Amino acid sequence: MTTTHILGFPRIGAHRELKHALESFWRGEDPDATRLQDTGRSLRARHWQAQREAGLAFVTVGDFAWYDHILTLCATLGALPRRFGFDARALTLTQYFALARGNADHPAMDMTKWFDTNYHHLVPEFDEHTRFDGGVTWLLDEVDEAHALGHAVKVALPGPLTLLWLARWDGGATTDRLDLLPRVLAAYQRLLTALQRRGVAWVQVDEPVLCLDLPEAWRAALPASCAALQVEGLKTLLALPFGSAAEHAEALAALPLDGVHLDLVRAPQQLPAWLAAWPRDRVLSLGVVDGRNIWRTDLRRVLTLVREAHAAWGERLWLAPSCSLLHVPVSLAPETRLDPELRSWLAFATEKLDELHLLARALDEGAPAVAEALAQAEAAVAGRRASPRVTHRAVQRRLAQVTVDMAQRGRAFAERAVLQQQALGLPPLPTTTIGSFPQTAAIRQTRAAHRRGELSAMAYLHRIRDEIRLAVREQEALGLDVLVHGEAERNDMVEYFGEQLFGFAFTDHGWVQSYGSRCVKPPILYGDVLRPEPITVETTRYAQSLTERPMKGMLTGPVTLLQWSFVRDDQPREHTALQLALAVRDEVLDLERAGIRLIQIDEPAFREGLPLRRSDWAHYLDWAVRAFKVASCGVRDETQIHTHMCYSEFNDILPAIAALDADVITIETARSAMALLDGFGAFAYPNAIGPGVYDIHSPRVPSVTAMTTLLVRAASVIPSDRLWVNPDCGLKTRGWPETRAALANMVAAARALRARW
Ligand code: GLN
Ligand code: ZN
Repeated sequence: MTTTHILGFPRIGAHRELKHALESFWRGEDPDATRLQDTGRSLRARHWQAQREAGLAFVTVGDFAWYDHILTLCATLGALPRRFGFDARALTLTQYFALARGNADHPAMDMTKWFDTNYHHLVPEFDEHTRFDGGVTWLLDEVDEAHALGHAVKVALPGPLTLLWLARWDGGATTDRLDLLPRVLAAYQRLLTALQRRGVAWVQVDEPVLCLDLPEAWRAALPASCAALQVEGLKTLLALPFGSAAEHAEALAALPLDGVHLDLVRAPQQLPAWLAAWPRDRVLSLGVVDGRNIWRTDLRRVLTLVREAHAAWGERLWLAPSCSLLHVPVSLAPETRLDPELRSWLAFATEKLDELHLLARALDEGAPAVAEALAQAEAAVAGRRASPRVTHRAVQRRLAQVTVDMAQRGRAFAERAVLQQQALGLPPLPTTTIGSFPQTAAIRQTRAAHRRGELSAMAYLHRIRDEIRLAVREQEALGLDVLVHGEAERNDMVEYFGEQLFGFAFTDHGWVQSYGSRCVKPPILYGDVLRPEPITVETTRYAQSLTERPMKGMLTGPVTLLQWSFVRDDQPREHTALQLALAVRDEVLDLERAGIRLIQIDEPAFREGLPLRRSDWAHYLDWAVRAFKVASCGVRDETQIHTHMCYSEFNDILPAIAALDADVITIETARSAMALLDGFGAFAYPNAIGPGVYDIHSPRVPSVTAMTTLLVRAASVIPSDRLWVNPDCGLKTRGWPETRAALANMVAAARALRARW
């Protein structure tokens, strides 16, 4: 019998039950956490039951977390940030959430992206004193829970190298987080021994770091790490999601492991190396169902792909999704409003379990036994390929005609800057904002009413215009130099555009956990992208009509539209990006024709699109830069293109940032006190920059002096005639009172410096 399993299941719940229970606990409505505990227990039970019903060999325990699996692992091992002073063994839920969200005495732990996914994990804080001497026993309790329900259990855990790699090192400069490895390994030994005593037969240790470019010292730590995972009576499956780990195949084959799991969706090219190196008396688990995307699997293709391995490994061949299903929505069942044809192309987490089941049956009983189901899957895949919904001839033709010139401005920046200044007449250190203004309850209600059909199109338009007027009046009163319309009509910067482009579809319940209780509902980009008509032109033109000051148009860039959607897997991402770029280009040109003289194209996801391996960076940067330039370079030299990015760490990609050739880039720098700007200075970044002078994540209103100091610091790095003055990011999560106060101080700071310089 072929063993099927999963690396993890989404924990948030099909109806975001965990989110609702968490938020009710945080609001103090569930003081004893009874509802929260019940919700957790019933979600786990339901998800295990689904795994069992799909005929999986064991249910996966350990994928659940109240907030984040890395935080939970730290709590389990006894490795919490010392600054909180919590005892990991006696950790309460309130303390656990204080670590994740901060409390009155301590800011929250940092959060960052989980490899190249859109999930955010908390960043462990380790130093020489971090002890790893044991903590909460929640994992053991969950194992008992699953056993009590009669399930066979495999426990999933992030591995020791991955844990250390992701940690922030707060220890001495002459030491390194890798020095902690012996202590970490001893802690894993104790935990695994406890699991073995509980009757657990298999543990899955996730080491995605082996799919990165690992420094030599870390590679050298591999034998000791794997040896430490050995516990008598417990088998270890080393899981390597998110990329290729082929370079480690021989080394791992020489180590005492009972099995290895490979991501064949991301890195099918690694299979031959493993077929050659991996011993046949050990388990080979192949990740063949996409754990990160929502398309139905081409089952016949998978059967062909695994044929050789099946012949050689027999029962020791396991099948699984490529990675944890954390990254896809729970179930297609509630998506009753999706177009039936499109729906037939999709598989969310629950449907992926069924796909595994079918694959196992096809291997065990032969394809004829499941011929009908295979034919159905095949028809869905073929239907998608051939569907007129997917292919637009005109788009394909246009794509083939993209020229080098289309990705090139007329004159160089220095000359453009002169023309733009003539056209705009801005003061030195011009002030502006990043786009959104506070999304008040009234705005949300207006949008919701419109969505429910309770507000006519005209009434809605009037309400949005009221908001735009308000935003413009506020900005004029504040004395800002370049205004924005405020984005009241936008729920989300990707969804808003996606809804008005051919090629995108939207689910009602397709939620995916982003972090903690926060979820996103990524659009499904299924077909050729076409902009049937202008999207923002009327709104922006109206906003401009209200003021003499220049109004900045506001668009989401092609890379971000791509990065924050579930994208098609039937063509390279770069092709999809280019289609998106053409749609944005058309919008840019329409804005320009409507008299808009500055256009901002937001690319907050530009950096996070970077591949895990350095060797793949150049290719990505190449097509991502091209997409941005195709989107932005159609305008006249007098038109000023802005872009905005709000993730730190530009230093290693500055040539690409410069190659975008945006006239102005606004970035998030306040939290780093402008340190981020040093790289731009050292690189001699040629165009204009608006380094954020205040952090919009906090309701705190920074003083004029604080912002002046930051600007002086910025001017020591970037010539002041290329500096803009703006907040770190959009203001949609803020309230008006603090926004007004902070912007007033910001304008005052800019004016003070203009007078001084
Ligand atoms: N223009 C967007 C806003 O202001 C930018 C959002 C972002 O960078 N994430 O909200
Ligand atoms: Zn931003």
